[in-house]
Amino acid sequence: MVYTRDLKSLDLRVVWVRLPPRAPVRNRHVMINEEENKIYVIGHKKPDLDSVGAAIGYADYLTQKNTFADESVIAVRAGDVNNETKFALEYFNVDTPELLTSAANKKLILLDHNERSQSVDDIEKAEVLGVLGHHKINFDYPHPIFFLTEPVGSTATIVGRKFLDDKDNLSLSKSTAGLLLSAILSDTVIFRSSTTTAKDVLTAEQLAKIADILSLEVFGYELKKMATIGSQNLVEVVFNDFKDFDMAGKKVGVAQMEMVDLADARSQIDLIKQELQKMLGASNYDLLVLMLTDIMKVGSEIVAAGETTRLEKAFGKNLVNNSCYLDGVMSRKKDLIPPLLECYKADLK
Ligand code: MN
Ligand code: MN
Repeated sequence: MVYTRDLKSLDLRVVWVRLPPRAPVRNRHVMINEEENKIYVIGHKKPDLDSVGAAIGYADYLTQKNTFADESVIAVRAGDVNNETKFALEYFNVDTPELLTSAANKKLILLDHNERSQSVDDIEKAEVLGVLGHHKINFDYPHPIFFLTEPVGSTATIVGRKFLDDKDNLSLSKSTAGLLLSAILSDTVIFRSSTTTAKDVLTAEQLAKIADILSLEVFGYELKKMATIGSQNLVEVVFNDFKDFDMAGKKVGVAQMEMVDLADARSQIDLIKQELQKMLGASNYDLLVLMLTDIMKVGSEIVAAGETTRLEKAFGKNLVNNSCYLDGVMSRKKDLIPPLLECYKADLK
């Protein structure tokens, strides 16, 4: 062949020197990093079971895949674990991940969130290698990175699928499967949340077989019960969960507490109402709403303070003594906020 002869006659040294210089590879040693060989997988502050369970699962996955050959991948947490998480860690005999108090000079993979305001402290001084989650995106980074979000019920669903769909014969341990399953059940409120997808259910069922969990309902119930047991002071728990929303220029605060039985909360409702009034008086809220969500009945007892007419209009229901029960209302972000916001916006027109 002509080509062979031509190739043989080429002076490769000449070709070599004529190649353009390679673009410089981003130097990872730019930051003085005392822990060059560690990559931390970390969820959001005030970690929930998804932030902890999915982090443990994803660190396990990346380690088995040998994705970062020279570095060890470690699951950590950005705050105290809650009761549900404690229950799942103990049930599947897994150590609680170490607490990371500062991200300065660390290499991180962010999980179950992407917004800076929700990240571990000093996130701006960290090197972010990737993001994995199921939330709306509010993220900006000056370098190309891995970024994966899916509109599913939990981050653990995405990690679970990575294991279950893998072709490399990864070993999915009973404990990792159990934690991922727990995180799916927690985030989807045992599949009752409107954020639940078919993928969450399928993944949970497959994980349950590996984790030796016979009934997702029974196990999920035990898990969710932990969210209220141990929190003697319901008022304190509830008031920790307020999220503020801007509704057509007015400030609205909404808190939510999931319970397996609303009866647990009824004895404290009067106290909660007093606290809501105090909070309203001390700030510029137009409306404060507390959702006491009964995960077995699939609905929420609403307790409100302030200007409640739009809330009543949004759900076509009158409040009696500042409260009412809304059947089927389970999710703050999907069931409560959108119709309420519509009513606020309608008043502007
Ligand atoms: Mn979360
Ligand atoms: Mn989540």
